[in-house]
Amino acid sequence: MNFLIEENRNLAPYCSMKAGGNAKYLVQPKSVSELCEAVAYFRSRDEKYIVVGNCSNLLFPDSGYDGAVIITCGIRGISYENGVITAHCGDSLSSLARVACENSRAGLEFCYGIPGTVGGGVYMNAGAYGGELSQYFIRGSFIDKNGEIVVIENNDMDFGYRHSRLNYEELILLSAEFSSVEGDRDAVRARMEELMAKRKASQPLEYPSCGSAFKRPAGHYAGALIEQCGLKGTSVGGAQVSVKHAGFVINTGNATATDVTELLSLVSDTVFNETGVRLEPEIRIIK
Ligand SMILES: Cc1cc2nc3c(=O)[nH]c(=O)nc-3n(C[C@H](O)[C@H](O)[C@H](O)COP(=O)(O)OP(=O)(O)OC[C@H]3O[C@@H](n4cnc5c(N)ncnc54)[C@H](O)[C@@H]3O)c2cc1C
Repeated sequence: MNFLIEENRNLAPYCSMKAGGNAKYLVQPKSVSELCEAVAYFRSRDEKYIVVGNCSNLLFPDSGYDGAVIITCGIRGISYENGVITAHCGDSLSSLARVACENSRAGLEFCYGIPGTVGGGVYMNAGAYGGELSQYFIRGSFIDKNGEIVVIENNDMDFGYRHSRLNYEELILLSAEFSSVEGDRDAVRARMEELMAKRKASQPLEYPSCGSAFKRPAGHYAGALIEQCGLKGTSVGGAQVSVKHAGFVINTGNATATDVTELLSLVSDTVFNETGVRLEPEIRIIK
């Protein structure tokens, strides 16, 4: 066995919300082969497991996770050739943008500042400022439910708004190829810096959070509906609807996962009662 299994580890430090309980097992593979080995190991023992990236869109319950949490952030290796960027599941979305920029390629600037990995980004079809990963994803290499390695092309990924086939089918992304278009390096860098400045100006980055707490409902903006209902600043325990950006739920210091989920329900119910629009969490709430 080439990977270390830690037992009974607190997950909060690994999660961008800085909340949640303990994992029965925690594994941090450093390569695709270690990841494959770890998945096969827990499958063969009928042990529950979840493969995660930077945990920037995840909330584990305070009662913890009764299985193995496999963190992929150490599985990195990003390269560029002939307009195509190939990344491993643990590469950051920001590094995807940086490598595109270094090679004078445009399109992926929107990834800059999204604090997730390529694996979490493909799962979520992460996007911002008019771009989303599905526009650039060419194909990916995955472990399927039988433990086989399969290659899946963009057309077969069932991409939608913050949605992909990974949401409902057991598929673990190992690596992926992304397209890009020819660009001017300075202009690409300027666009990345412009988008980062927008994030800093509009988002409460000084507090732990999972980014946008709710998906954008058709025809509306979640933050605008929440603000319209007077919910900015509303708290449950240490969880609060950000005053800076009503679409964010932040941890003001000592929030539990239960505080966060109760606040999400309170906000969703209040917005529904007052506007008739039901907000669905974008945060993946693990049971
Ligand atoms: C301050 C802040 C700003 C944010 N801004 C944005 C934004 O602009 N746009 C946006 O879309 N999101 C944004 N997010 C949310 C988050 O960063 C994205 O959803 C990101 O794609 C999650 O990546 P991750 O690696 O952290 O995934 P995780 O949170 O670790 O996991 C998310 C899901 O992906 C699955 N997963 C992870 N890796 C793999 C893999 N290798 N194979 C299969 N499944 C996998 C997990 O099981 C889980 O279900 C923001 C979050 C924060 C905290």
